[in-house]
Amino acid sequence: MAAIRHAHTKPELLIRSGLHKRGFRFRLHSSDLPGKPDIVLKRYRAIVFVNGCFWHGHGCEMFRWPTTRKEFWRSKIEANMRRDQTSISALRASGWKVATVWECALKGRQKVDRSLLFDDLTDFIRDGKGVLALEGKKAG
Ligand SMILES: [Zn+2]
Repeated sequence: MAAIRHAHTKPELLIRSGLHKRGFRFRLHSSDLPGKPDIVLKRYRAIVFVNGCFWHGHGCEMFRWPTTRKEFWRSKIEANMRRDQTSISALRASGWKVATVWECALKGRQKVDRSLLFDDLTDFIRDGKGVLALEGKKAG
């Protein structure tokens, strides 16, 4: 079954337009790379995934295990989580740095300051190494 990755979602559009405004140019949904990354900045050897917290099983306030069809959702979401890890490892092994922007950083009660988020993301794209996760503020 194809990966659950909803192309062109609102959080993704937001990140794309923010990067574009800041002068970055990129490819979208490159099917020739592991995990078909949402945003590929070849010049910087950088990948950006924009993850929905539900589909990718993020341990945040926006994620709740569904109360119906529990087995179905558990196997689906756990498969997505495993696929994410596998894709990131494969990308790292071929020399890409990988940022993941979680939905909860962009909307809801835990969202972070938008311009700080883009500062962190663009610093990472230009000069970062390894992996970066941008997520919502922890509750409490
Ligand atoms: Zn989240």
